[in-house]
Amino acid sequence: MSVSTESVNTESMPNSPIFLCAISNIASGSCNEDCSFCTQSVRYGADIERYKEKPIHTIVEEAKRADENQAIGFCLVTAGKGITPNTLRFVCDAAEAVKKEVPDLNIIACNGLATKEDLKTLQNHGVGSYNHNLEASEAYYKQICTTHSWSERYQTCENVKEVGLNLCSGGIFGMGESEEDRISLVASIKKLQPVSIAMNFFHPNSALPLKKSLSSDASLAWIRRMRREMPSQRIMIAGGREITFKDRQREIFEAGANAIVIGDYLTTAGNAAHRDIEMLKSLGLEIAQTCDG
Ligand code: SF4
Repeated sequence: MSVSTESVNTESMPNSPIFLCAISNIASGSCNEDCSFCTQSVRYGADIERYKEKPIHTIVEEAKRADENQAIGFCLVTAGKGITPNTLRFVCDAAEAVKKEVPDLNIIACNGLATKEDLKTLQNHGVGSYNHNLEASEAYYKQICTTHSWSERYQTCENVKEVGLNLCSGGIFGMGESEEDRISLVASIKKLQPVSIAMNFFHPNSALPLKKSLSSDASLAWIRRMRREMPSQRIMIAGGREITFKDRQREIFEAGANAIVIGDYLTTAGNAAHRDIEMLKSLGLEIAQTCDG
């Protein structure tokens, strides 16, 4: 991807620093659910790497690299509908190991549906935030997933808030949903008031049943709308950033985003982190050094 270094309209750029978050897919690609946007579902046979548990020492190495790349969030992601006893033990072990070596990183867990008890256990092992996206509007979710419900997802987000973890929640834009669906998704996110809102932009994979995507102009318009609706929340642009916005990266910040995922995504490669750091520098944007900005 080429990064535009043309002069920037700094008046419309965020005044606050940009938050960087890195993802580690610590248990990949063996999920029995049928989410039709997800390459980690075993039902669609997508050509991705699948493994049960990434070695803890590899996770710690990734966390150190994330820290060197100025990420302040490090997200431990497991594929699956929700937390099983084995997942809980593994994520707790990984979180403790990362905290021991890189104490300043904010650990985010992303492990699907979770009870308050599960979430408290994660919290007691060093996890500070939980990511659980609503993904779509309640109405559209029924069309893209039949094996669990949107209301279960919403309940998990409420559980996160109740136990006092920071909630990161958002959705995926461009899966063939209507404008009305997007309005409804934004309203649901607003009701939850997450600390951080994850906006993903769908890009089709030949193995998946969904074939839609959203133009970069429409995607920017939804970032603007999210910012209007939630002026003080962190808005993080996650999956699909490079493919959807290509050399229009500066426009995502002008539209109101103030956080990005750096490095690789769950099953797709992202920009090399140093390229994103150079891009932010070229735009005159500072990188946040703590979770409080
Ligand atoms: S539950 Fe999660 S990992 Fe499983 S198919 Fe759905 S989105 Fe993918």
